Amino acid sequence: MTTRTVVAGVANDRWLAADRARMWEEAEVVGVERRAAAALLRLRLVEVPDLLPGQYYLVRLAVDAPPGVVEQAYSLCSSPHPPSTEVEIAVREVPGGRVSPLLAHQVEVGDLLQVRGPFGFLTWTEHDGGPVGLVGAGTGVAPLISIVRYAAARRLAIPMTLLCSSRDRTTALLIDELEALARGLPWFKLVHTYTRSPHDPSARYRRRIDADMLAEVFETHEHALRPTLYYVAGPGDMVITTRSMLGSLGVADDVICSEDHA
Ligand SMILES: Cc1cc2nc3c(=O)[nH]c(=O)nc-3n(C[C@H](O)[C@H](O)[C@H](O)COP(=O)(O)OP(=O)(O)OC[C@H]3O[C@@H](n4cnc5c(N)ncnc54)[C@H](O)[C@@H]3O)c2cc1C
Repeated sequence: MTTRTVVAGVANDRWLAADRARMWEEAEVVGVERRAAAALLRLRLVEVPDLLPGQYYLVRLAVDAPPGVVEQAYSLCSSPHPPSTEVEIAVREVPGGRVSPLLAHQVEVGDLLQVRGPFGFLTWTEHDGGPVGLVGAGTGVAPLISIVRYAAARRLAIPMTLLCSSRDRTTALLIDELEALARGLPWFKLVHTYTRSPHDPSARYRRRIDADMLAEVFETHEHALRPTLYYVAGPGDMVITTRSMLGSLGVADDVICSEDHA
């Protein structure tokens, strides 16, 4: 049996996090846009969150499957600057999944969702410097666009190149927004690779990410802008192989930050 000694008047809160273990908060869905690639959900939080570009929230739903409640992680694809109570997530349906089909197809404006966050270490701010190499596949693009949007909102002009891997144009996450950013920002370059669209001319590559592609995008063509930092996000196998291929190109492991979207 453990005993706890409490001395009246000397309780010390120095180990307590600033949020005092606030658990789930209720966020109102204030915008829903259903696209082929993902549903964009705009959520209004109770307070302006203290977050960094690239972080994620947990979303908790009551579901009809045991144990009755499931929580899943969703990256914020919006910029944390300027500070706002509204944040955006992009949810791609995983067939047979417990949460994503509900968020993608059934959640509507006016619904309340339980959320918790922010979490995650795939973060970048101007203090991290650059140039920055971004490699995203599938929903891994969501935290990376948050980073680019943040840099744009802060007018930072730190060179960033995003290599974006998708099955095809229709499944590329937030493609219109990314292409608009690339057209408007001289410091941001966007390179698409489509793994299942062999004839689409809008992609520079039409295969899975490999070491030659990484070398061309980040080491050769953009030589003057060789990244000092890399951010890699997407399915687990893609993250592992991309880290390893960057390593084979001489990129030190400690300048690669990655997140597995499982
Ligand atoms: C840090 C992080 C950030 C993320 N960001 C995003 C994002 O921005 N956008 C996004 O869309 N996703 C994101 N994800 C993925 C997201 O968290 C979920 O994993 C995804 O939405 C699937 O959740 P789900 O509940 O629908 O699927 P799950 O219910 O977890 O199911 C996943 C798969 O397992 C199968 N399955 C489920 N239950 C069982 C079972 N009992 N037995 C056998 N098979 C089963 C399902 O059929 C399905 O194929 C992120 C993940 C992480 C870790």
